Amino acid sequence: MMNFEKSCPVCTSSDKLIRFNWGEYPVIHCNQCGLDYCSQMVEKESGGNSSPVHMEGIEMMTKAFHKTNALAMKYAEKRLAIYESILNRKCQNVLEVGCGPGVFYRPWKEFNVSWTGIDINPYWKEFGEKNQIPISNYSIDSLNGQYDVVMAYQVIEHVEDPISFMESIMVLLKPGGIIHLELPNQNSLTSKLRQFSSKLSYDYGFIQPPMHLRAFREKTIYRLFENFNLDTKMVFTCGNTDKTWGQVRDYSLFQKSLYSITGGLGFGSLLIGMAQKGFSVDKTII
Ligand SMILES: [Zn+2]
Repeated sequence: MMNFEKSCPVCTSSDKLIRFNWGEYPVIHCNQCGLDYCSQMVEKESGGNSSPVHMEGIEMMTKAFHKTNALAMKYAEKRLAIYESILNRKCQNVLEVGCGPGVFYRPWKEFNVSWTGIDINPYWKEFGEKNQIPISNYSIDSLNGQYDVVMAYQVIEHVEDPISFMESIMVLLKPGGIIHLELPNQNSLTSKLRQFSSKLSYDYGFIQPPMHLRAFREKTIYRLFENFNLDTKMVFTCGNTDKTWGQVRDYSLFQKSLYSITGGLGFGSLLIGMAQKGFSVDKTII
């Protein structure tokens, strides 16, 4: 692994790094690709190279799970149409990395797409067993199938080394396969409000130690895909309640209107990136 104190985890730049302290912790901004990050992981998920998800988030997802199946179904239907238009063939199988409660398992099954869900947190494996959802604890590197689509929703901001994470995904994509990332947008309104002063905010935007130690912008995602010679299909920001790309959550009416306004203004909290792997095998290495 690279020394991230000296070089950026996404673009490997070493002379474009700007270092500053935010309250009690040091942050590095890469002026080349726009990544904000902390070079040291404070805390790691057991058995993984990623920062942990806090219990509050887990409880929220558990609660939302039982209310949001209809929403997941709508998203899956719309996304499938887009995936297949890019694939130019039927989408047969998908891999969801960091799938949490596996809310997308039943929707994909409904559309005859085989869903594989992995999550390193043992809580979700157990949750899956109780709810008849086949969630496994395997690490991404232990899989050996090949998939039409690999999706990672709210995952890459937890990953210590985004390049090696992408390398693992590349191996798991069929030729012409699609990677679909969803993550927090460091240029969102919420994030910008948390970048004024460390006296007002412990978080520096979406740098939220110990949970999130990497915060991406649109141009960071472009750069990440370029590293792998991927054919970038879309990189854009939207609100959490976007009708196609939103998050499966149980939103209040207030949140719905707020997210749709900030999303519409281009300051939405979600960053979406989608890219396609080439059909020739030798173009996937940096
Ligand atoms: Zn960079």
